[in-house]
Amino acid sequence: MLSIRTVFAAAFLAAVQTGCTQGDRAGAAPISTTNPITMIQVRFLDEKGVPGPLTNTAKVVQSDPQWRKQLTAEQYAIARAKGTEPAFCGAFFDLHKPGVYQCVCCGLPLFTSEAKYDSGTGWPSFFQPVARENVVTQLDRDGQRMEILCARCDAHLGHVFEDGPPPTGLRFCLNSASLVFVENKNLKDATSR
Ligand SMILES: [Zn+2]
Repeated sequence: MLSIRTVFAAAFLAAVQTGCTQGDRAGAAPISTTNPITMIQVRFLDEKGVPGPLTNTAKVVQSDPQWRKQLTAEQYAIARAKGTEPAFCGAFFDLHKPGVYQCVCCGLPLFTSEAKYDSGTGWPSFFQPVARENVVTQLDRDGQRMEILCARCDAHLGHVFEDGPPPTGLRFCLNSASLVFVENKNLKDATSR
């Protein structure tokens, strides 16, 4: 026979699970996590733009309707549906201001102006992320290119190629639509290499 406690626990669990799969609860925070919570380790930046120690953070998992509600149609098409914006059209390929490029979906700091350079491709290009823990790379669906994802929310960011400048020789080729730029004058401008 079920105890009252067991019944309550089951009802609570059902309520939590229902809440996690329904995206449009009134008053819900724009970003929420589902159960079970998966923890990862990333690095955040201090006010000078310097990466700090490895810090635990929860993976950000949202339903498709939640992402569509949070993002513009273009941001959704690129960051969640793995699209690519046209070259020389994005907001950031020709931006040289000092600052941090964060994930458009979850706000995780991903790249800074100090690793940005002009690749001539028409997409914002960087030779390294703020920390290797903050991005994930995996073989793309085309089986040829390496896709770059946000480590916290799995947003599609772009692709990484092995034709970048020193010191890494890598070119992280990103979509502006997957990023939010936050100016920080403590950082150096992007170079015009
Ligand atoms: Zn993210």
